[in-house]
Amino acid sequence: MSRASVSPAGVKAATYDAVVVGAGIVGAACADECVREGMRVAVVDGDVIGGGATAAGMGHIVVMDDSDPQFALTRYSQQLWQELRPALPADVEYEQCGTIWVAADEQEMAEVHRKQDYYSQRGVPVEVLGQDALQSTEPNLRKALAGGLLVHEDGVLYPPCAARFLIERAQAGGATIGLGCSVSQIGNGLVRLDDGRELSAGAIINAAGNGAASLTPGLATKKRKGHLIITDRYPGFVRHQLVELGYLKSAHSTTGDSVAFNVQPRRTGQILIGSSRQYDVEDKPVDNPILLRMLQRAGEYMPGLAQMSTIRVWTGFRAATPDQLPLIGPWPGDSTVFLATGHEGLGITTSLASARILVDQIAGRRAAIPIEPYLPSRVSSEHAYV
Ligand SMILES: Cc1cc2nc3c(=O)[nH]c(=O)nc-3n(C[C@H](O)[C@H](O)[C@H](O)COP(=O)(O)OP(=O)(O)OC[C@H]3O[C@@H](n4cnc5c(N)ncnc54)[C@H](O)[C@@H]3O)c2cc1C
Repeated sequence: MSRASVSPAGVKAATYDAVVVGAGIVGAACADECVREGMRVAVVDGDVIGGGATAAGMGHIVVMDDSDPQFALTRYSQQLWQELRPALPADVEYEQCGTIWVAADEQEMAEVHRKQDYYSQRGVPVEVLGQDALQSTEPNLRKALAGGLLVHEDGVLYPPCAARFLIERAQAGGATIGLGCSVSQIGNGLVRLDDGRELSAGAIINAAGNGAASLTPGLATKKRKGHLIITDRYPGFVRHQLVELGYLKSAHSTTGDSVAFNVQPRRTGQILIGSSRQYDVEDKPVDNPILLRMLQRAGEYMPGLAQMSTIRVWTGFRAATPDQLPLIGPWPGDSTVFLATGHEGLGITTSLASARILVDQIAGRRAAIPIEPYLPSRVSSEHAYV
């Protein structure tokens, strides 16, 4: 995944201002932000750059409004992606294609209007599409859907290349990168690698995704399995990221299995088809009944998808918190440990803002958005998963 020159030997058992554990999109963004802050930085990952949930993600850069804190973080981060856009290499495939939240009936149109009000009041450009406008904007959707909400500034990108870009930029700014370096323990200013080496750090940033909880006892996140399908090339068949409004029910559920219509046009002309959510499933293999449900759901909204060749199916695990907000900030009880994890299905979107507000905290600066909703101190035994 990486073109950066990195190796286990590349990480010296030295003292750093910050050691980032995890080179997924969140750790990569944290490393880049720390370097921009003028810190001496090391990044260590037991695997490769962007090989965890980041490699499995859909790369939808989406503003969400489940809660005010979720809106604040997604919108801020989307604006940071837009600022970064001119620097992104072509292989990151950033496209501002917009999202259409598709309403199947009049009840869902009421939700379209609620979302329109919420976004408009907060300066996000949106447009309500009636039945005819939806049909002409996305002619391959099934006829007689009620309409939708077009969110113009949403986009898509290719997450592993975005992570690689951020790591390479951090490395160009002086960061040391160690891949194939599993971390066995963190705390009290020390990061211990599996091979016994120890790195000292003023700040240890635990951005290990689903591996974060085993490094920070008391932290509880839960794995949430997802499936994605990618088709062969059908340029122009889908023009925007299309998501059924029922997706929100799927994303909100904290138990059980769910699927929702969620398709994305790639620059290659391929179509990425999602999505599923499953708790309490730890194994990676594709679950055929879930896959079938996803394809059926996609076919109900876009009948032409049934004729398409699919070339790959994969699964990945989102790291979920009980209140569906990430954990960004100091870990109570150890002033050297900071968390940047628990991003569930929004970590690609929110990586840049997460890194920015985390480094603001390390630097003792006021962040651009209120940080309190994301502070790890809110996690207590009363809220933790058991
Ligand atoms: C199917 C699916 C679809 C998704 N779609 C979207 C989307 O459209 N938009 C969006 O915003 N988000 C999406 N997401 C969510 C997004 O992919 C994640 O939130 C994000 O990738 C999390 O990034 P991360 O860096 O925290 O974790 P990861 O990418 O998992 O990175 C963690 C890294 O830590 C390393 N690590 C773990 N333990 C250790 C250890 N002990 N020592 C050393 N290294 C360690 C791992 O090797 C890994 O590289 C989706 C996720 C899935 C599964």
